[in-house]
Amino acid sequence: MRPAHATIDLDAFVHNYRVAKQLGGGKALAVVKADAYGHGAAQCARALDCEADGFGVACIEEALELREAGIRSPIVLLEGFFDAGELPLIEQHDLWTVAASPWQVDALERHRPAKPLTVWLKLDSGMHRLGLSPGEYVQAWQRLSALPSITGLVAMTHFSRADELAQPRTDEQLSTFDAIHATLPPGTPASIANSAALMAWPRTRREWVRPGLMLYGTHMLDAPCAETDALRPVMHVASKVIAVRDLAAGEPIGYGGGFVTEAPTRVGVVAMGYADGYPQYAPAGTPVLVDGHRTRLIGRVSMDMLTIDLTDLASSGLGSGVELWGRHLPVNEVASHGHNSPYRMLTGLKRVPRQWHGASR
Ligand SMILES: *Cc1c(COP(=O)(O)O)cnc(C)c1O
Repeated sequence: MRPAHATIDLDAFVHNYRVAKQLGGGKALAVVKADAYGHGAAQCARALDCEADGFGVACIEEALELREAGIRSPIVLLEGFFDAGELPLIEQHDLWTVAASPWQVDALERHRPAKPLTVWLKLDSGMHRLGLSPGEYVQAWQRLSALPSITGLVAMTHFSRADELAQPRTDEQLSTFDAIHATLPPGTPASIANSAALMAWPRTRREWVRPGLMLYGTHMLDAPCAETDALRPVMHVASKVIAVRDLAAGEPIGYGGGFVTEAPTRVGVVAMGYADGYPQYAPAGTPVLVDGHRTRLIGRVSMDMLTIDLTDLASSGLGSGVELWGRHLPVNEVASHGHNSPYRMLTGLKRVPRQWHGASR
């Protein structure tokens, strides 16, 4: 059997949720969109269902997958609904929805839900992607709060640059949000922090925080922040050395021959390629662990295989275990070598069989 595999440590996932919840000090929405960032939405959500205050997903398809998996907790559609025809399903499955565009507010008003419905009304405080503009927001709030069936209204916004610790934009967005929030009824719950804001911008912690990436044990902050130390990696991607050869100096390796050995080199071939989600353009020098020792990628990553330098690892060879990212090799470190991001690497895992460990309840 092909030795490439991923293990998902659900105990680490639950641990990271507790870290996030404690930091936030209120309720924490576990964001499990995109198949829980590649970790398996149903498995991750089940591990937390008794404990999480709610789950965040990108669309109703993802929400229904969780309901089918037996998840009873609140589920928030982070982009709202894509057409008004979803509203009956939202009611039927007790989903919570974001309203982020004027047409969604109109649709909610027309739908007049029969059951109590929770809506998170999103403000565009400066990211300029989704959200009502400050000029539209208060009137939309008043219209929704006049509907008797809309019982829970949460004020939300989202940051564009919270992972840049010296950036003024986060404070600017926060001021814009606070100015609007101050005009809403006292005690209106708010939700503004994603993982980066939750860890690095304590002023953004409100009634609800919305951690995603940190639940998977990594981050993209551009400067050290003590809060990341408590996180534990959840996904571990491993394979094996399936062939070894010795090359003289001056020999090209792999497609395109772009990498040429500078000295006599022992090359290991690993069963892992870009069709598994390993970054296709990871450059020579990207770290890889072999039998727990660090070495480097050499040669171009191909679809099913990649090549590594075993020259200094005399005791490693055919059959040696290789960690591509995980417990001992942080995914964000690997990502940083190839103009990549941990978001994309985690969500990009493909073909590799996944096994889930821990948190069996
Ligand atoms: C994805 C998402 C999050 C989680 O973001 P992270 O950076 O992964 O923590 C939070 N809020 C919204 C609206 C999102 O779409």
